Formats: sequence, structure tokens, C-alpha cells
Amino acid sequence: MPFPPFLKYLGVLLTGWLLLCSGAGAAENGKILMVTEATFPPYEFWEGNTIMGIDPEIMREVARRTGRELVIEDMSFDSVITAVVSGKADVAASGITVTPERRGKVDFSIPYMEAAQVIIVPKGSPIRSREDIRGKRIGVQHGATGDTYVTRNIQQPERFPNGALAVAAVAAGKVDAAVIDQDPASMYAAGNDRLEILPDPLTSESYAIAVRKGNPELLRDINSAIADMKASGRLEEIRARYAAMQVKSSAEAGKHAAGGNWLENAWLDLKSSFDVNFMQEGRWKYLANGFLVTLEVSFFSVLLGILMGFVVAVIRATHDKTGGLRFLNALCKLYLTVIRGTPVVVQLLIIYFVIFGTVDVSKVLVAVVAFGFNSGAYVAEIIRGGIMSIDKGQFEAGRSLGLGYSQTMVFIILPQAFKNVLPALGNEFIVLLKETSVSGYIALQDLTKGGDIIRSQTYTAFMPLTAVALIYLSVVMLFSWLLGKLERRLKNNE
Ligand code: GLN
Repeated sequence: MPFPPFLKYLGVLLTGWLLLCSGAGAAENGKILMVTEATFPPYEFWEGNTIMGIDPEIMREVARRTGRELVIEDMSFDSVITAVVSGKADVAASGITVTPERRGKVDFSIPYMEAAQVIIVPKGSPIRSREDIRGKRIGVQHGATGDTYVTRNIQQPERFPNGALAVAAVAAGKVDAAVIDQDPASMYAAGNDRLEILPDPLTSESYAIAVRKGNPELLRDINSAIADMKASGRLEEIRARYAAMQVKSSAEAGKHAAGGNWLENAWLDLKSSFDVNFMQEGRWKYLANGFLVTLEVSFFSVLLGILMGFVVAVIRATHDKTGGLRFLNALCKLYLTVIRGTPVVVQLLIIYFVIFGTVDVSKVLVAVVAFGFNSGAYVAEIIRGGIMSIDKGQFEAGRSLGLGYSQTMVFIILPQAFKNVLPALGNEFIVLLKETSVSGYIALQDLTKGGDIIRSQTYTAFMPLTAVALIYLSVVMLFSWLLGKLERRLKNNE
């Protein structure tokens, strides 16, 4: 069956871009790919456009000694060990506590730091010790040892994606206490004079670096780097240097000249929050770069979705009309059932960790495959509906002009169907654009994740979230407007 010409262009565009994408990525020879969750000062945190901290310093030393390049990726903490196990990364260095469960999955380096879980509360809270938190609202970081401790020994906690958010919840009065690691807790408390850390730690732990099993050379290199850095006192020196550093920006946020009326103060608050969230350290760049990633992912997913959707719809409609293509039709039905029956985040994670588990492909590509396949299922049903809605007489007319079935389909039916379903298709693309906001799950820095990174640095929610929302909204409005124009143009051409 001949392809409609515009599908050919789509195909060419997609293939070209796929070629560009392949070859990107890391974890090949000459590189060490490290994953971390970079809202964990002083072990890892964003500073401008790089991830700094004790863990990157250790791994940079390993890379230097072995003549390799260190590539660092930021992802949620509950994914860092999975990434190592599935072969997505070589090491996870993320202030990881050694536990027997984790030992079953990865190899651990020798420990490089002693650590503990502590309770962080609003200053002057009635909670004074571990006995007092029972029955209170307790925030933890999902998947961290604080989570395990509270769940096993106290009660079900409220689980936040990272420690910074758990602490922000304490500051905002959303929870009564947070249980997180001692060093980051001190950094957060230093940056916020309304918080305090209770003196008695809950646990005693040690941090080590997680290495994929079956990589004894890398493990040995890391161990010797850590041993040397410990012996020479360099590790302590690095730690002291970071400990002296305070979370300046959050302390500065919200400061303004005393006096003035409330309107003036509100304005000053807003202005300084804007400064901290977007201007300081060029933070707006997280939004700008994230926006470009979101556009790239959305654009190519839409192309892939249309391509998939058209092919599936034509197969299904042909089956409906002629009874042929039974096997292909069954395959398409399976695809529709599975894709429409499962959430897109789960599909994204499966494609990343399972399907592309051991292959090295760029994350943008993974996201495009996930969102494109997902969207294709919806597009297929929209277009099939369009095809089925075209009057039967049109087929007969085509036939009587001497056109075959496929020619009739491509030149007569599809163009009309396309026009009829344009609003529904437009809607599907709007949904797709916003769905890409879950890309952060695979550590892709899209627009939403860009806002999250700012939030994790400034501990403010309003500004970054509002900015992210406004950007999505503007794109959707622009797109709807263009779509309206296209619809009117098609109508005039009738
Ligand atoms: N030390 C804790 C753990 O290993 C938390 C680490 C982290 O949040 N980066 O679970």
C-alpha cells in the first residue's frame, strides 16, 4: 500500500533524528557514569550548572586516576540503585548507606563517611525526642534509610521525593518532623533559622559507593582512591570545606527592608523571591534548557505518534471494512490494549530500565519512544474513528473512478478523515505535551524537572512552580491558536 506523502516526510524526519541521537549517552569505555540524587548537600547538590559535593569529588578522583571521564546524572534517590543494577550506570554515589538488602543487589566500596538519621523539627516544637514523634506527622525521603527506620520502628511516614522537600514540608507546617540524614539536615537547618535538629540521632550508618556487581576493577579503583583520600586527610578537608558552606540563597530569600506597608512588603518579597529563584546563579537556565528538552521530546513524540497511529488505524479500518489483515489487526489490538491500559510513567520506566536496560541510548530517545508509542495508541483510535465516519459512498466513488482500495484510502478517505479528526488530534497533542512532564523519572531534565531543581536549591515552591505552569500554558495556548487557524483554512478549502 502506498504511503501518503506526508507520512513519508514524517518517517524521514524521524529516522534522521534517530541517527543523530544514537551514539549519545554514556557508560561506554573511557567514561564512568555515576548516578546520584543531587539535593543532598554537602554530598551532592547543584551549583550553577554542575553537580558539586563530596561524592562527585571522590568519583572525580577515581576518574582522574584511571584516565576516564566522569559523567554525572541526577535522578530520584529510589532509582539510583536500580540504575546500577540494570546496567544504566556504573556507580551510584549518593550518600548511600550500606544495608544488607542493598548489599544483595550491588557491590559496596569501603565506607567513606559515618552518618546518622536525625529528627528535624520547627524551632520550639514540643517534639524533643524519638518518643515524641509517634503518632505525629513524619516526613521522610522515599526509599532512604530514614524511611526504612520510621516505617519499621515507628509508623507509616509521609514519603517525599527527596530530603529537601521533606524539610520544606516541616518549614511549611505540613508535617511535624522530618527524619533525614544528619549532614544534609545541618545544611538545611543552617539555611533556615526556623528549623532545629534534635540532638539524639536515631541510627548510626556508614556511606559507601555502590558499584555494579561483576566489576572488580572499578571497585578496586574506587577503594584505593577512598583509602588514599582518607589517609591523606583530603576527605576530611573536603568535608570541612563543604560544612562551612551554608545554604546562602535560602537564608537570603524573603529578606527585605523593614517598614513600609504590606503591599510594598509583599512586592519586595515577590521581587526578592524572583531574584533568588531565577536570577541568582543563572537559575533561569534550568527552565530555558528544560523547555528546549520538553519541546524536543514532544515534537518527535508527536511525529512518532502520528506515524504509529496512521499505520495502526489503517490496518484496523481495513480489517473492519474488508475482514482482511487478521493477524496484523490482532497485533494492533494487543498494542492498543496494553498501551491504553497502563499509565505512561510506568511505560516510560519499563522502556528505560527493562527494554533499553543494557543498551546505551540517549534519554531523549527513550522518552520519545515511550511518549510516541503511547500517543500512537490514542491517535490510532482517533483516526480510525475518522475513517469509519466517512460515508461508504466515498469508497464506491473511488472504486468507480478506477482507484484500488489502497489508493482510495490514501487519496480520498484519509484526507477527509484527517480534517474531521483535527480537533481531537490537537487535543491529543496538548495532552502529550503535558504528559512529558514525567520525564524527570528517568533523570531527563525537562521543564518540570528544571523547576524541581530550582525548588530543591531555593526551598521555595511558589515561584518555580508558577513559572513552569505559565510556560506550559503559553505553549498550549499558542498551539491551540495555530490549530484553530489550520482548521479554518481547511474548511475554506472544502
Ligand atoms: N543515607 C540515606 C540512604 O542511603 C539517604 C541517602 C540520600 O538521600 N541520598 O538511604
